[in-house]
Amino acid sequence: MTTVTRFAPSPTGLLHVGNIRTALHNWLLAKKRGGRFLLRIDDTDKARSREAFVAAVRADLAWLDLDIDGEARQSERLAIYEASFAKLVEQGRVYPCYETAQELELKRKVLLGRGLPPVYDRAALALSAEEQADKEAAGIAPHWRFKLDHATPITWDDAIRGRQHFDPAALSDPVVRRADGSWLYMLPSAIDDIEMGVTHVLRGEDHVSNTALQVQMFGALGAEPPRFAHEALLVGSEGKLSKRLGSLSVEALRDNGIEPAALAALLARLGTSQPVEPIADRQALIDGFDLAHFGRAPARFDEAELARLNAAILHQMRFETVADRLPEGMDAAAWHAIRPNLSRLADAAEWWQIVTGPIEAPELVPDDRAYLAEAAEVLVRLGWPENPWHALTGELKSATGRKGKALFLPLRLALTGKDHGPDMAELLPLIGAGEALRRLRAGAIG
Ligand code: GLU
Repeated sequence: MTTVTRFAPSPTGLLHVGNIRTALHNWLLAKKRGGRFLLRIDDTDKARSREAFVAAVRADLAWLDLDIDGEARQSERLAIYEASFAKLVEQGRVYPCYETAQELELKRKVLLGRGLPPVYDRAALALSAEEQADKEAAGIAPHWRFKLDHATPITWDDAIRGRQHFDPAALSDPVVRRADGSWLYMLPSAIDDIEMGVTHVLRGEDHVSNTALQVQMFGALGAEPPRFAHEALLVGSEGKLSKRLGSLSVEALRDNGIEPAALAALLARLGTSQPVEPIADRQALIDGFDLAHFGRAPARFDEAELARLNAAILHQMRFETVADRLPEGMDAAAWHAIRPNLSRLADAAEWWQIVTGPIEAPELVPDDRAYLAEAAEVLVRLGWPENPWHALTGELKSATGRKGKALFLPLRLALTGKDHGPDMAELLPLIGAGEALRRLRAGAIG
C-alpha cells in the first residue's frame, strides 16, 4: 500500500517552527517510503481563515523545498462532509443537542465542584421526539455531538508513543458541528483522511486526545483508522513552551537569513536519538528518517543552535547552489574565499563590496603607514606572482623582521578596511594587482 501522509494547517496565522517541523516530518516519511505527501488546508473556520495565510503556507513549504503531491481545501469539500454526516445521523452516531453554552458551563462546574470529571451527561440523548420538536419550534437550532461507543475501548499502536488506551466512557461525546451548521475540525478531518487514502497521521502530541475520539469516528465511518504517530512538542531552549517559540514564524526565520537546508537539518533530527548535524543533502535526511528514532521527551529548539547550523551549511554550500542569490559579478573563487566567513548569505554582499571597493579608510599608526609604503614597493617589485599574499608577506617578513599580527594586520587593514575577514591569500587575488597597490599606497599616506 502506498504511504500517504498529509500536512493539515489551519490558515489562521503564519506557520511557526512547530508547524513546519510537522510538515517536514510528514514529507520525510512519505519520501522515505516512496509515498505521497498531501497538503490539506483546514479552512472550515471561515471567520478566522485568511487567503493570505494559505498563500504563506504554500510559500513556506516551497521555501523549505517540501513539494506536495496534491492539495485539498476543506471549504471545497462541504458536500462530502454533509453526505457522511447524514449517514451518521441515520445510524444514530451523531445526535442533536440543544443546550446553550451557559447551560453546558454550569453542568461542568457542578461536576467539577463534586470532584468529578466534567464529562457531558448525554442529556440530549434522553430528549423525546416531542421535546426535540418543541426546541426546533422555539427556533433553537441544535449543535451535534458524535456518540462514542462506550462498549468498545479505544486503543491504538502509536508509532512514537507505543500502545495507547482510552476509556470512551470517561470522554465527552465531542461536538462535531455547530448550531450554525459549521464544522469543528475533527469529523471533517477523519472523513478527509479516509477519502484521500491517508495511511499515516503524524502530528503533535497535543492531538492525542483528539485521536482517541477520531479512532471511533473512523470506525463509525466504516474505515480502518490510519497509523497514528504523535511527536513530542517543541520547547524553547529554556525547556518551556515559550511564547517566543510559539510565535517564531518560518517567515521570520527566512527574513533573518536562515537557510532552508539549515532549518530542515535541525528539525529533521530534533527530538530524535540522532545527532543534529549540518546535513545539506536532502536525500541523506530522507534516508535517515525513522519514527523509531523519536523520543517522548520534549524537543528543545535553540535559536543559537540553528544559527550555528546555518553557518555550517553555508560554509559547505556549493557555488552553483547559491550563484543566483549572490551579488552581481561574484564568481566561484570569490564565493569560496568569502563562504567561511558567513553566518548569513546576505553578508556575502558586504565582503564582495570589500573586494570591489571602495573600502572604509582604516585607522593606522605612523609606524604602520611606513610599513605599508614598503609593502607597496615590495608588491611593485614582485609583480603579481602566483600566490601574491604569500609572496608579499614572505618578502616583508624578511625585510622588516615583523611577524604575526604586526606583519599581517596593517596589510589586512589597508587592503580591506577591516581587522578580520576571509583568508587574505584568497582575497588578495580577487582584489587584483592595481587595486591592491592603490589601497596599500592609500594606507601609507593616510
Ligand atoms: N488543522 C489541524 C491543526 O492544525 C490539523 C491537525 C491534524 O493534523 O489532523 O491542528
